[in-house]
Amino acid sequence: MRIVFIGPPGSGKGTQCQRLEELLGLVHLSTGEMLRDAIRDGNELGRIAAGYLDSGNWVPDDVILQCIVDRLTAPDCADGFLLDGFPRTVPQAEAFDTLLEERRLPLDCVVSLEVPEEVLRKRLLARGRHDDTEETISERFRNHDRLTEPLIEYFREKGILRRVDGQGTPAEVFDRIKEAIGLPNT
Ligand code: AMP
Repeated sequence: MRIVFIGPPGSGKGTQCQRLEELLGLVHLSTGEMLRDAIRDGNELGRIAAGYLDSGNWVPDDVILQCIVDRLTAPDCADGFLLDGFPRTVPQAEAFDTLLEERRLPLDCVVSLEVPEEVLRKRLLARGRHDDTEETISERFRNHDRLTEPLIEYFREKGILRRVDGQGTPAEVFDRIKEAIGLPNT
């Protein structure tokens, strides 16, 4: 299966992808994790990305596309993948579509995790990641609304959007996701 997770910061994309990765044995790719790894390694990608992550801004589309396209064409992605945090803008989604069409690998579905902003703010502050300060959280919400929210319409028009309520315990949300993507609820 090829599944994309979208949702605002703190909506649980990473947590839910991990659960689905364990259940289905698919590769879980998080562009946020890839960027944080690159920053820790101090490589060229990390040096480019650091300022964007620290200020709560999205990394430029061409930079993200370069790093994810190489990764997606690796042999371990041949049977499918779970994408967490990519695509995050309409231009990224369009470039991604072209790549998948060329390889005749259609997406099965896009899971949109929906959680009210006040709940997300509390979750993010409790999580305490390096880029989870009041200021960067606000900037990430602004970028999400401006750049990522339009993806919901983009995928809805394609008929592959599955909207899922992301409130409640991780187990409750996971049950909703399984139902939304057509997996038996065991
Ligand atoms: P995340 O771990 O998904 O919350 O991502 C952390 C940060 O990485 C974001 O705030 C962005 O700065 C950057 N990032 C991750 N994925 C993307 C993407 N697809 N496009 C642009 N920036 C991204």
